[in-house]
Amino acid sequence: SCLRYKASSACHCSPSLLSTPTVIMSSTSPSSSSPSANVAPPPPDGASCWLCLEEGPDDSGAPLVRNCSCRGSSGFAHLSCIIEYAGNTTRQIIQRGVPTVGKDSATEVRNFATGYGDAFFKCPNCKQDYQGDLKGGTTKAFLSFNQTVFPDQNLHKSLQMGKATNRLRQLDAASNADRIEGEELVSKLLASIEELKQSGVPLFDMIEANVYVHCAGFYGGMSSDEGLKKAKSFYQKARDKYVIMGGKADKYVTMGRKFDLDMREINIKIGQIESRLRGSIGRQDKAAEIKLYRDKYDCCVEDGNDVRTVNAGIKLANVLYNAYRTIETEQLLDKMVTTSHRLHGPDHRCTVNAMSILKRVKERCVSLECEEGWFEALQYENDGEKCVLRVKGPIKEPRVTDEEKTITVPSGEVRPYKGTPVMFHGLKKAAHLNGKIGDVREFCQSADRYEVHLEDKGLKPVLAKHGNLKVLFDLPDPKKESS
Ligand SMILES: [Zn+2]
Ligand SMILES: [Zn+2]
Repeated sequence: SCLRYKASSACHCSPSLLSTPTVIMSSTSPSSSSPSANVAPPPPDGASCWLCLEEGPDDSGAPLVRNCSCRGSSGFAHLSCIIEYAGNTTRQIIQRGVPTVGKDSATEVRNFATGYGDAFFKCPNCKQDYQGDLKGGTTKAFLSFNQTVFPDQNLHKSLQMGKATNRLRQLDAASNADRIEGEELVSKLLASIEELKQSGVPLFDMIEANVYVHCAGFYGGMSSDEGLKKAKSFYQKARDKYVIMGGKADKYVTMGRKFDLDMREINIKIGQIESRLRGSIGRQDKAAEIKLYRDKYDCCVEDGNDVRTVNAGIKLANVLYNAYRTIETEQLLDKMVTTSHRLHGPDHRCTVNAMSILKRVKERCVSLECEEGWFEALQYENDGEKCVLRVKGPIKEPRVTDEEKTITVPSGEVRPYKGTPVMFHGLKKAAHLNGKIGDVREFCQSADRYEVHLEDKGLKPVLAKHGNLKVLFDLPDPKKESS
């Protein structure tokens, strides 16, 4: 079997509603996910903490860390220093005044809630969010900070809930330790909802819906039927809240478009879970999902290029890839790598992640008529007469790249997989299609024909014999095309 199928079945939906989308492809395949993505590279010699100015580890032995968009030797710090700095900054904000629920305007409360605690989540030097392990550390610190500073006020409980949902989003329910922490967080969150229900905290419906969405995302990650059923019931609770909020739309008018996208996402997730419980995901599910993530991506692009755009682009790429639209996926990821590189630099988690996904998307999966397993086509030789393949399957986990050997076969024996980009050649009746490119989307076994969707959207899908399809290795550069 091809890695693509493995990847798509293992891919669980991560909750992105109302908060920065997380990267789903990074956790789909152990063989291609980059372990370096969560742990930032070590500091260069002579680097020092921008807060305490000391070089090397702190008193407890914890090393200098950096996982944001700072470059060169700047932006390194001790986690303990960051936490102290963030605590002091946040205490100053509190001293300047905290709006009172029910007395101050909802806008005032919302503005306060939006920026509150930022020092724990954003690097003050590059103004970008902390990532990976560093973010995990500061989130935990923020939760305990709130517990000491505001033991029992309603507003702060609801702020706390927002950050607890963020923590939930970082957890992988498939791992034992994470699942235990996650289930504890879920029950704490549900208890807080009960306590706060009658409190009159502004936008409480929104907060409550957000909690349900995150709980659903967490349980969806379990991929057992039991987990899926829990996920579904949380999404349904969230949907009920959205229906209520829709009835008082004026209160939420500033969130207009996003509100609509989030509602659609909930409905799609429920549909997908129902399909998964039945054991299938249909074409229609995929089409609606692609449209949703395209709209979300467009929404981020309109808001300006930043982390969200890159994350939204990667999510869109993921659903396109699982629908075998590889050419589009590759073009989009190319763009995301460039954007992320410019925004964050080459070592940043976003860039590393986008690059490792792009590398996988660029693998051209093929099979052979009389050989078991699957192969990665590498190049043509002898004017296209022969094709060099890397033997990839059956997949052994963990994969040992050194043991993967290459073989050379007559090109006529090579058959594309679903999703493999191809170019038409040697067509006599439909000679106008020769040289056109597209993705294989289906294989029709009875007719032994491949359904190819052309990149040129003006042309209808074509059913072709494998002899008329060449594997397309390098996509045409869209910039050159248009100039
Ligand atoms: Zn320090
Ligand atoms: Zn920074």
